[in-house]
Amino acid sequence: MAIDAGTTSARCILFDRQGTMCAVTQQELHVRYPQDGWVEQDAMEIWTVQLAVCRQVLQKLGIQPEQVAAIGITNQRETTIIWDRHTGKPIAPAIVWQCRRTAAQADALRERGLAEVIQQKTGLIVDAYFSATKIQWILDHVPQARQRAEQGDLLFGTVDSWLVWNLTGGKRHVTDVSNAARTMLFDIHKRQWDEELLQELEIPACMLPEIVPSSGIVGETTSEWFGRPIPLAGIAGDQQAALFGQTCFQPGDAKNTYGTGCFMLMNTGTKPVKSENGLLTTIAWEVDGEVNYALEGSVFVAGAAIQWLRDEMGLLEHASDSEAIARSVSDTAGVYLVPAFTGLGAPYWDPYARGALVGLTRGAGRAHVVRAALESLAYQTADVLQVMEQDAGLPLQSLKVDGGACANDFLMEFQADVVHVPVERPACVETTALGAAYLAGLAVGYWTDREEIRQNCQPERIFQPEMPEEVRQRLLDGWHRAVQCSLGWAAGV
Ligand code: ADP
Repeated sequence: MAIDAGTTSARCILFDRQGTMCAVTQQELHVRYPQDGWVEQDAMEIWTVQLAVCRQVLQKLGIQPEQVAAIGITNQRETTIIWDRHTGKPIAPAIVWQCRRTAAQADALRERGLAEVIQQKTGLIVDAYFSATKIQWILDHVPQARQRAEQGDLLFGTVDSWLVWNLTGGKRHVTDVSNAARTMLFDIHKRQWDEELLQELEIPACMLPEIVPSSGIVGETTSEWFGRPIPLAGIAGDQQAALFGQTCFQPGDAKNTYGTGCFMLMNTGTKPVKSENGLLTTIAWEVDGEVNYALEGSVFVAGAAIQWLRDEMGLLEHASDSEAIARSVSDTAGVYLVPAFTGLGAPYWDPYARGALVGLTRGAGRAHVVRAALESLAYQTADVLQVMEQDAGLPLQSLKVDGGACANDFLMEFQADVVHVPVERPACVETTALGAAYLAGLAVGYWTDREEIRQNCQPERIFQPEMPEEVRQRLLDGWHRAVQCSLGWAAGV
């Protein structure tokens, strides 16, 4: 049983030994935006809705809890919950990963000259995105919170910790290494909470969860929830779980998830690789006592550019219409769309970049613009991949893909062309949940080893690069010139 605790929905999926989905249940979660840039959720709702969908999935298949070999959890990362260990009640709304309310605290850490030590220890670039400043915020704003935390009355957890704590009836307060690596408080080399960072942020160590491997039995559910205990045996953050679910077990294996944005991770093996290009270094997982690290890069606007075509520009009725429209022309006629709506991330790191539509001629039409938008997902991915290969010193053999927009065959063909490696789309695109299931199943011997899992993983389709090198170079040059047009725009220079 995979618990997929996402941001907008709670899902539960049952997988069988072949890694085939047997049943899925899903329920939406509320997300609140109480002020500009603030994003919150009700932690109690996260728990109760998640429990409900888990119960429903058993009912749906009419199976008994003892037939479930183990539960694996994968979750939205960084989201911060603090609760009272005696009552089990959260003391504040969950601060969601997207929330920018602690941007000034992150700036303050940088001003205090901590950016380098933070990157060296945690692999992360100082940002409000990670849990550390969110914990600090709750301790600073909820009356008596810091004092209660110091007395040992409060517990912190990301969504995985919160769910495990509730599922085990408050017996286990844990998080796995992949989630811990996203808090900005965790030394990814020593694999422990970092005393110095905790002191700098005035976060009492006693409120932090115990660190556990990503695959391993951490406890069992209390009988109250499913009628019988079920072992909890796997935990990983969503992107790392997807990397595992895509069987990216070897150094150099990478996956890209095409959702609202793109999340790309590359396995770099048992040694962390420091990025020179603004990528994050993170723990992929710990399995059988061995830690694998990953480089992570994201593209802020990917599928969201297709939504923009649909909702703001009115050029599409459905996102999926983009494929046929793009194919109705043989190229973009020199048009490029740089969807830098919120600035650009790796490798440009320009918060002042803004969207640009360039290369227009009198003949440019709707299909060219739609095609340019789809191509922009592939170009942005190619840019991140290039620096990733450079940082890792590992050439990419193939790119595994998942996420909503990977259903677009035109996009996948074009992606293979511009990165010049085969693009593999798996038969089961629920890679995040599958990764959690694999981590849990390995721990209880449901699957023997990773080799057995790899046998399960059949690509549904492999897209081979076909574009002549000279065309590829020309297109990429055009893209990079288009990016130049978008840089610094909002800064007024
Ligand atoms: P998220 O998990 O970020 O909400 P999903 O993985 O559900 O995202 O993917 C949805 C995104 O993919 C949307 O931004 C949508 O515009 C885009 N998308 C979905 N289907 C297609 C398609 N066939 N072609 C292009 N983009 C698509």
